[in-house]
Parts: sequence; C-alpha cells; structure tokens
Amino acid sequence: MKKTTVVIVTEVIILCILIICFIFGKVPDNKESVKTSEANLNISDMKGTIPRVALTFDDGPSTKYTEKLLKGLKKRGVKATFFLTGERISYSEKIVKRMKKDGHVIGNHTYTHIDLAKTGYNEAKKEIEDTNNAIKEITGEKPKFLRPPYGDWNEKLLEETDMSIVLWSVDPEDWKDRNADVVAKRVIKSTRPGDIILLHDIFGTSVDAALKIVDELQSKGYQFVTVDQIEDSNLIKKQVVE
Ligand SMILES: [Zn+2]
Repeated sequence: MKKTTVVIVTEVIILCILIICFIFGKVPDNKESVKTSEANLNISDMKGTIPRVALTFDDGPSTKYTEKLLKGLKKRGVKATFFLTGERISYSEKIVKRMKKDGHVIGNHTYTHIDLAKTGYNEAKKEIEDTNNAIKEITGEKPKFLRPPYGDWNEKLLEETDMSIVLWSVDPEDWKDRNADVVAKRVIKSTRPGDIILLHDIFGTSVDAALKIVDELQSKGYQFVTVDQIEDSNLIKKQVVE
C-alpha cells in the first residue's frame, strides 16, 4: 500500500510539472532547437543583405609576391584595391596592367611613401601627381583614391585635390608579424560588415594570409568588394567636386 501511494504521488508531481511547462512554453526541447537554429544562421541572413568587406594592399607592387596574390584573387573571384607607390610602378608595368585587367581598383600611395602631414605642400603635391601620372600612363585612368602613408594628410592638400582619402578599420600589423596564420586569424576575428582591411603585398606572408582570409570570410557569407563599393563609410573622406 505504501509503495503504491509513493508511485501515485510521483505521477501527480510529474503531471503537474508537464502542465506548468506546457502553460509557460518552457519545454526544454523547444528552447534548445531555437538556440541551435540561431547558431546556424549565416551572417548574410541577419540583415537580409550580403555583408561587404574590402581588402586593400599598400606599398606595392612587389615583383616577388603580387602576381601570386593576383592569381589567388582571380581564382576566388575577388576584386581588391591596391594603393601603389610611384617609384615601384616604373618597374612593375606588367603587374599594374594585370591589376587593371582583372578589375581591381588602383589607388595612389604617394611616390616615395612620404608622410603628407610632415612634407612641404609643393613636394607633397608633386608626390601625388607623379604617382597619378605613372598609374594613368599604364591604365589610361587617373586614380580616384589616395591612401596617405601612416594615415596622415594635409587638409589644404586634400581641399585642392579631387581625390578621396581611404583609411582602414582592420589592421593586423602584417609588417610586424610575418606569419600568415597569425595575420589571417587577427583579421578573421575582428572583421565586421563594412570594414576595410589593410595588408601589404610586399610580404609573402601577407599574400598567403590574404588568401586564407578570403577563403574563411567567403565561407561565412562575406562578399569582397573594392573600396568604391563600401557605402556610407566614415573611412572614406570624399571630395565633393561641384
Ligand atoms: Zn604604406
């Protein structure tokens, strides 16, 4: 008799718990399935648009590494933005031609990598113009974008040029740590939609890192675009030409 009473009491308690769970919708299985489906959500599903990110390469071209990068980007269907120094363009004509042919955006990074804020106005202006001319001679187009070395520029100079200044939001310091895995991990961890990633194609490790970054972020749903396709970004200081 005593055993039967215990069984009945236990059944009543279980029934009460089930009724409470049903009323408050707190069935553990249900909660778990919501959690799982959230975790499986692709980043592109969250806003209904494809998240965009821009890869930028400074200080090149490199006769040693840039062609490998161009080949890797083409294979992956990626367009990037290259900020070239004028002095390197003179012996990299073939590479610059290929950049243009592959649909990449070519920008200006001054002729000898000067700090525009610390250089005299006339000299700074000449550095920008000479680089624009060197690029135009090969591509037939004057660059629209300027990446100032060290992120420094002179406001007066900017006012007088019709170029847009392009800064960056993800800097893995690839010049300091020459390790492709370390650089790729840093970028993958901190990249968000709308970011502009800074790398240097004069290092073999940065080229390897760039391709790892593309593979990983493409698998997360990111689309790689050139800087002119990064909209509403405070990283691009646009000149309004009237
Ligand atoms: Zn630079």
